[in-house]
Amino acid sequence: LAKDMKHLFYNGNVITMDPTGRVADAILIEGNTISDVGSYHSLKPEADSKTIKIDLKGKTLLPGFIDNHTHLGEWMKRKTSANLESALCCDDVRKIFVKYRKKLKIHSEPQNCWLIGYGLHKHKLSDYNLINRKFLDSISPDLPLVLATFDLHTKCCNSIALKIAGITNQSSDPHGGSVGRFADGSPNGFLYEKACSLINDYLPQAQDISEANELFTSALEELYSYGLTGVHSMENYRSYLKSQDDLRDKLRICWHIYHEDKGDVIANGHRSYTGDEFSKFGTIKLFIDGALGSESAYISRPYTNNKDNYGYPIIYKEELTKILEDLFSNRLAVSVHSIGDSSTEIFLNSFEEIRNNKKIEIPSGNRLEHLQFLSKDQIARIASLNLYCSLQPVHLSFDIPVIKELCSPDLHPMAYPFSTLLKNKCRLGFGSDAPIADINPFQGIYYALTRADSSSPENKGWFAEESLNSIQAIAGYTIGGAEGALSNHRLGSLERGKLADLIVLEDFENKPAEYWKDAKSLLTMIDGKIVYSQL
Ligand SMILES: [Zn+2]
Repeated sequence: LAKDMKHLFYNGNVITMDPTGRVADAILIEGNTISDVGSYHSLKPEADSKTIKIDLKGKTLLPGFIDNHTHLGEWMKRKTSANLESALCCDDVRKIFVKYRKKLKIHSEPQNCWLIGYGLHKHKLSDYNLINRKFLDSISPDLPLVLATFDLHTKCCNSIALKIAGITNQSSDPHGGSVGRFADGSPNGFLYEKACSLINDYLPQAQDISEANELFTSALEELYSYGLTGVHSMENYRSYLKSQDDLRDKLRICWHIYHEDKGDVIANGHRSYTGDEFSKFGTIKLFIDGALGSESAYISRPYTNNKDNYGYPIIYKEELTKILEDLFSNRLAVSVHSIGDSSTEIFLNSFEEIRNNKKIEIPSGNRLEHLQFLSKDQIARIASLNLYCSLQPVHLSFDIPVIKELCSPDLHPMAYPFSTLLKNKCRLGFGSDAPIADINPFQGIYYALTRADSSSPENKGWFAEESLNSIQAIAGYTIGGAEGALSNHRLGSLERGKLADLIVLEDFENKPAEYWKDAKSLLTMIDGKIVYSQL
């Protein structure tokens, strides 16, 4: 992109999301930077004969969206793998893999190029009993091939895949799983339950997504059509290293690395929020509790189906304090998975203790992830500790019925307190946790606005007093997302000197909330480059 290349968008509704809430009708981009926002009349003289002028025809222009919690490698892996969901017989499986293979760029070391299929519904397959290593060899005699059932509890590998993973006649069954065998004792390709981990370490992470050229491009297009110009991704260290180059200049990414890889992170001298705006090293991701659906989120009232179960913490305060002190003294901030209020209590107690001790300098940018239940007291403490809150409004679509069924009514008003967080001046941003939920931020905006409860008559808003207006919801995906990477001085709003990440939408001001359900970006610009346009 030429540094002197200019874009002038005019005749629109430019919602800047700056602190003053300014709305203008034009914006001028120079190279990758916003050079001015204002009236067309005042910006026109700055345009020259080479400036690309885009008439917005009354449409709305916003900063690009940032999803502050994804597992992008996993999402990309699904998008760039063969999708077996539609298969009804073995022949369908063969056809899907053959078609998939044509889209792959087979590189010089074919053994590193895997054919991976997800989503096989074994009960839908009339001749599932024919699937085994030999059948898969007939589809792919030369490249490793693995298929996974829809529930991910079973995998089946061809001979090359088994060889790469070192699975032989002598392999023993791991604890909690088994290796499928033919009558002669040789592996038949199947790996059940925990035995799936025998192959998982060998499967390419996001690193080989660019090998699936066409699929990689269409996955990116999908993100652009959702208005996404950046995401935060939770990854292991290895996939962080390998994915960076594939995604550079295509999507802005802030990487958060799982705690089990902190050895690599520290040994390689990483510090939180270093790097550049295309690839930023974020935080270390920790877990304090589990999830609501599996009744392992740690909450202050017992689950209604078992009065002895409050969920449980994965780590207690003393251990957490040690972990945090170690990370903080290495200049690493944390992103803490905490769903239940009792879990968040552990974190707040530990964090306050470290802060009060004053022995260790706490790096900025510490984050709390999910926060499905928060007490008023906790919200006040989060605000005073300046902790960043990452919430996933789209999870309301499946969580409301679970909360109603499993959680004490005392907890219900504490769930997803969007509005209370804002009133208390908490730093708040939104994400999807994709592929757990739809990565499309428009879905999140819809649920932040409506808190629609599909289990109620008329799809009523659940604790509607916690709903946001559209600008507040958009803030969670723009300036709020940028704050979660300490990038708010460069991204998240349309201000002079900031990087030119922007999207164009229909004018939504007078549209009903339903608009957001099917909304699409009409144009997506990243770093001054138009990467997607339906305008
Ligand atoms: Zn997650």
